[in-house]
Amino acid sequence: MTAAPPPLIQVQALAKCYQVGAVRFPALRGVDLTVDRGELTVVAGRSGSGKTTLLNLIAGLEQPTRGSVRVAGEEFSGWDRDARAAFRLHHVGFVFQAFNLVRVLSARENVAFVCQLQGRDRRTCFELADHWLAEVGLEGLGDRRPDQLSGGHQQRVAVARALAVTPDIVLADEPTANLDSATALALVELLQHINQEFGTTFLIASHDHHVIDQARRLVRLEDGRVVTGVEPTPRLTPEEACPGPHRLLRHRVLKLLADLGCSRCRPQGT
Ligand code: ADP
Ligand code: MG
Repeated sequence: MTAAPPPLIQVQALAKCYQVGAVRFPALRGVDLTVDRGELTVVAGRSGSGKTTLLNLIAGLEQPTRGSVRVAGEEFSGWDRDARAAFRLHHVGFVFQAFNLVRVLSARENVAFVCQLQGRDRRTCFELADHWLAEVGLEGLGDRRPDQLSGGHQQRVAVARALAVTPDIVLADEPTANLDSATALALVELLQHINQEFGTTFLIASHDHHVIDQARRLVRLEDGRVVTGVEPTPRLTPEEACPGPHRLLRHRVLKLLADLGCSRCRPQGT
């Protein structure tokens, strides 16, 4: 008899404390969570319950205050930012609330570029882009730029982009929050279809009932803890506070690339 494979994600006694001035705020207060390969898990909870913090820690975007996160057998403690970014680039696909597509690129280019950042050749990445765009129902729309697509279609491009990196897991933070009801439901059904058809592992943070009602596995967060059954305005750099349009676009693109795992792409002031 072979031993069961270890969970893809193993979160143990995870705590995250944000310090704002003299005030320390515990966003996560000891979270345990395991996610097996092939699972689709929804993390639910009201706004402020810690969902985004949990996803950011699992992605290695932030470091825990206490406890540990293990993803695909790796534990990030002691890893520097670049090493964590490299890990993200090769193992984690992202879907964001606001789609976060590069508006000057076509849908195909948006899907292909993260794959190219991974070092794969252009042709392979464009083939993967066409494959995944077809799988998410956008065959024939690959040449459109984001502003020529509806919100629902833009989010499908983002799903294709996440899948084209051949990730171990797709992390989706409030993926339906900018969509109307019918489009939100269609997106949930798409994610479930991808999960069942390709065995892709999804961890979805959401407080949208369209997502929660459909979830086969639901983890509820409340005040930074799993329950079963004031910060001042961030300080801005002068460029961020008074950006010219080109600078702002460049900053946004670099921030997106850095979040997706590109260690060379950190914008100034972050
Ligand atoms: P959710 O995604 O469930 O809305 P978050 O994880 O964004 O919750 O936030 C959980 C709590 O942590 C909130 O009270 C939020 O204000 C606080 N928080 C999140 N990020 C930061 C930060 N960078 N600095 C200070 N507090 C933060
Ligand atoms: Mg959130």
